[in-house]
Amino acid sequence: MLEINGVRKSFYGFVALDGVSLRVEPGRFHALVGPNGAGKTTLFNVIVGRYTPDAGEVRLEGRAITGWPTHRVVRSGLGISFQRAQAFLSMSVLENVTLAVLAQQGRTRSSLRPLAGYEEARARARELLGWVGLAERAEEAAEALPLGDLKRVDIAMALAGSPRLLLLDEPLAGLSRRERQGMVRFIEELLRGLGLTLLFTEHDTEAVLRLADRITVLHQGRVLAEGAPDEIKNDARVVEAFLGE
Ligand code: ADP
Ligand code: MG
Repeated sequence: MLEINGVRKSFYGFVALDGVSLRVEPGRFHALVGPNGAGKTTLFNVIVGRYTPDAGEVRLEGRAITGWPTHRVVRSGLGISFQRAQAFLSMSVLENVTLAVLAQQGRTRSSLRPLAGYEEARARARELLGWVGLAERAEEAAEALPLGDLKRVDIAMALAGSPRLLLLDEPLAGLSRRERQGMVRFIEELLRGLGLTLLFTEHDTEAVLRLADRITVLHQGRVLAEGAPDEIKNDARVVEAFLGE
């Protein structure tokens, strides 16, 4: 589904990614873990075309997408939801998701004539909100929602283009313990149900072990270990890297 080969990225001489290679198999839930500053978000930014790598390549379903602009990447089967929710807080939940649907089609509201296309997009947005369990809150302002629900709106927006691969950067960050459990169940049920492939980062070890089929450990811009959750849990180098944080 996703193949990353020898990706390097530095910022003003600081090497954030130092030859990272990674394969995400179709249908898997793949966790990317590592201490703060390991390079996880930087790698996501390279995958979605926000950063151009200094070297290496990114392949999505076999196609080299390295250097593609983000809007093109997200129209090629990849959905993204990053740490900071992307919803416009003053707009309604439905309007946010509708705009994501329109953006996915390469349209903005102002470019819409006739209005029928807008109604179509709204219907699709309602369907997406149903999937994430927020149909009843569609008319509310996004700012009225608790963070856990806002993250679901974000995921609904990420699903607007019917991606086959979804990238979630710390989906549980900022959530209470209770909200975290709800979110883990939500991710499991929804994304497994849709048959999506997932690449995610997360600091909550319990959640990682529950969700992931495969774990890659990143440390100082390099892959330190990769394996099944059981292997990673018992890997002395991994434990050391985390305790050394
Ligand atoms: P993680 O997500 O694993 O916590 P990041 O990928 O955010 O780590 O950061 C990895 C390193 O790269 C950090 O030292 C960070 O300061 C640096 N970095 C990330 N983005 C930039 C940038 N745009 N400019 C300069 N340094 C950056
Ligand atoms: Mg990060």
